[in-house]
Amino acid sequence: MIQITMPLNFLGTVYREIRQSLVDMGEMFGLLEQAPDVTDKPDAKVLNVQGAEVVLDDVFFGYDPARPILKGVSVRVPAGQTVAVVGPSGSGKSTIGRLLFRFYDVQGGSVQIDGQDLRDVTQASLHAAIGVVPQDTVLFNDTVGYNIAYGRAGATRSEVEAAAKAAQIHDFIQSLPDGYDTQVGERGLKLSGGEKQRVGIARTLLKNPPILLLDEATSALDTETERDIQGALERAGQGRTVITIAHRLSTVANADRIVVLEDGKIVEQGTHAELIERQGRYASLWQRQQAEEAA
Ligand code: ADP
Ligand code: MG
Repeated sequence: MIQITMPLNFLGTVYREIRQSLVDMGEMFGLLEQAPDVTDKPDAKVLNVQGAEVVLDDVFFGYDPARPILKGVSVRVPAGQTVAVVGPSGSGKSTIGRLLFRFYDVQGGSVQIDGQDLRDVTQASLHAAIGVVPQDTVLFNDTVGYNIAYGRAGATRSEVEAAAKAAQIHDFIQSLPDGYDTQVGERGLKLSGGEKQRVGIARTLLKNPPILLLDEATSALDTETERDIQGALERAGQGRTVITIAHRLSTVANADRIVVLEDGKIVEQGTHAELIERQGRYASLWQRQQAEEAA
């Protein structure tokens, strides 16, 4: 416990928060992309999370306003439910996640959490409410314990271990030569894609956010590992509002609602069963992917 919490205390909360937001940003954007220029309003309030209902109301957005990416998207994610966003590559799925994190401001409509427009709340309180599991978890060149622990400042060793257990990575970590003190990352032990994702899930569970944003969290993994991690993610989503972005439809069939995005517009939404019944876009994507998996 001392090894993990001491550097955090030593470096201080401010540094840690900067580092955390750089990591979140890096994970969502790629480190080379420019830092977006969103600022807090002078009278910005602390986000007051109740059930964590997420609403996109007629959202318009383009990175270049002349080239719209989201064209009037409305999605409501009721408190504690899971909504999946699916659709072709480039349709704007990850952009929805970036707007929820307020890396950019919408150009029309609004994004709200429990009725509060994101533009009216502090970014610190907004970012504290959302946990992101991206496609590739970025590991620091530090111990595996540290890599989980910075999910929340001041976390104790037993809290770190509880998060690791929930993400089903504790036994693996214990089997490492130095356990939680094993160096990982570029200059340490290289973890497999599935192990890294579990560390990312543990980190997010430790943060304990009311809202979970999964952006292709399992898409870099082979099918078997994906199935394993899927279980850990579903457990992580219990009692939270979850927005899950996915390419492989088999991972989202259990969602409370599935939204199909195409070219920045919602073309269908419903449960898996409803969308299959409708025999529209989702059903044909589903059939194509089932055939691919069988092949
Ligand atoms: P998806 O996640 O559905 O594959 P994205 O939301 O990432 O799609 O991207 C939607 C569109 O926005 C794509 O055409 C993509 O090239 C463009 N885009 C994504 N990020 C940026 C950016 N930072 N600057 C400019 N265009 C971007
Ligand atoms: Mg994407």
